[in-house]
Amino acid sequence: MSEKYDVIVIGGGPGGYVAAIRAAQLGLKTACVDSYSGKDGKAAPGGTCLNVGCIPSKALLDSSKHYHHIEKEYAEHGIRANGVSIDIEAMLKRKDGVVKKLTGGVTQLLKANKVDFYHGKGTLGAGREVSVAPSDDGDEVKLSADNVILASGSVPIEIPNVAFDGKYIVDNVGALDFEAVPEKLGVIGAGVIGLELGSVWNRLGSEVTLLEALPDFLALTDRDIAKQSLRIFKRQGLDIRLETRVKSAEVKNEQVEVVVEVENEDHSLSFDRLLVSVGRKANTEGLLLEDSGVRLDDQGRIDVDEKSRTSVDGVWAIGDCVRGPMLAHKASEEGVAVAELIAGQFAEIHFDTVPWVVYTDPEIAWVGKTEQQLEEEGIPYSVGSFPFAANGRALAGGHGDGMVKMLAHEETDQLLGVHIVGSNASELIGECVVTMEFQGCSEDLARIVHAHPTLSEAIHEAALHLDGRAIHRAN
Ligand code: FAD
Ligand code: AMP
Repeated sequence: MSEKYDVIVIGGGPGGYVAAIRAAQLGLKTACVDSYSGKDGKAAPGGTCLNVGCIPSKALLDSSKHYHHIEKEYAEHGIRANGVSIDIEAMLKRKDGVVKKLTGGVTQLLKANKVDFYHGKGTLGAGREVSVAPSDDGDEVKLSADNVILASGSVPIEIPNVAFDGKYIVDNVGALDFEAVPEKLGVIGAGVIGLELGSVWNRLGSEVTLLEALPDFLALTDRDIAKQSLRIFKRQGLDIRLETRVKSAEVKNEQVEVVVEVENEDHSLSFDRLLVSVGRKANTEGLLLEDSGVRLDDQGRIDVDEKSRTSVDGVWAIGDCVRGPMLAHKASEEGVAVAELIAGQFAEIHFDTVPWVVYTDPEIAWVGKTEQQLEEEGIPYSVGSFPFAANGRALAGGHGDGMVKMLAHEETDQLLGVHIVGSNASELIGECVVTMEFQGCSEDLARIVHAHPTLSEAIHEAALHLDGRAIHRAN
């Protein structure tokens, strides 16, 4: 006999655990199945994000930022700090502590919401039957439900001739746990993960080289923002090589020998460690029995419509294992929406207003369309911008790098996109997301009182500049 639920969620990342909690809040009998084990071998719900993604990377970004500030910026503030050293073991321990606190918190939240948690690998068969192979090697458990939500996340892409070995050639998991600062770190892929983890080790003293196949830096980002970011990161010491395709890598005498192709010629490079961060792909391994009936799309992701419905009635899929940006907040919002749809409520997600963030220093954040997209789509637009170098709070804090760029419809003034590179861009983008969600205009942002002195005044000024009436820059 299988235990019967209203909803079974497979995957306990930010997509899955949020979906489970919301379903339970709505009075549905809910189970969540997650196979992730923490470093202590125990269940650690929270997925990639909490265990080896968003959270540990931010913990190390913050720790390494403190060190970098002492080393490079304190002197400017008139502070002399001598004999500063790094204790990597303590830094990693702190990071692991943050992860443990949060995964423990998710366990508590599931319990408090009366979600039954199964620590094991879930597989969906026909008729919404789910079998769970427990992580402690216990007997298989059979479950069934009226609705199953697949939230199995993603795994790193491996490239041909560059095999992960967990020590010298690593993915995000390995790069969050180097036991010493590598003298020379190579990073394949100058995308979000490569830049974030490359920055961590660069700040701690590694010589970091990012090898990027594409000619454009951060190809999805507005070109003005990408160009300015590239200049800033190069100045910080990141060696970013565009149009450099990695062809192979192998470990010889404790060194990683990498062959790259630049302008049709092969070159060899040598590193102490190599991080492969060339993107992630949907994780569907062992998730679906053939007779489950769930269809995959041409990129191996679970095929879903705009409401997250799969090809099987009552089976839904959310987060990194489906189309759309691989972002934790996108996964969570899909989880909430699906739970509400199952409960018979109205729910939809506005993919146009999902904010994107790169947690470098300065941060990069944006919402909506880039100028290049507007040009391609033939949408008439006006542009406003404001440099942080002219913002009092930014200068007082030593954060003069970067800018805000705002795009609005030329005729209606409706806000179409905001792009920021600058300190705290991840927080600043919030008011732009809200304005776009409310279908607001640049004039709304221009008329709203912004506290002084704050970084948010740069958004206010960019909105004023869009209409040729900025106060603190020439129009
Ligand atoms: P996941 O978080 O991957 O969770 C899926 C879970 O399902 C995992 O625990 C997995 O073990 C489990 N699972 C899979 N298959 C099964 C099965 N058959 N049975 C049981 N359990 C199963 N995003 C941001 O928005 N902000 C950031 O700052 C950010 N930083 C990142 C940094 C790094 C280094 C990485 C790698 C990613 C980062 N991301 C960030 C992306 C973010 O982690 C993902 O978008 C997010 O985790 C997706 O959530 P999810 O629930 O879809 O999948
Ligand atoms: P992201 O998807 O943001 O993590 O970025 C991954 C980056 O890796 C993209 O910019 C790709 O162009 C880049 N990339 C993929 N394959 C290679 C390769 N063989 N050599 C160098 N860069 C690559």
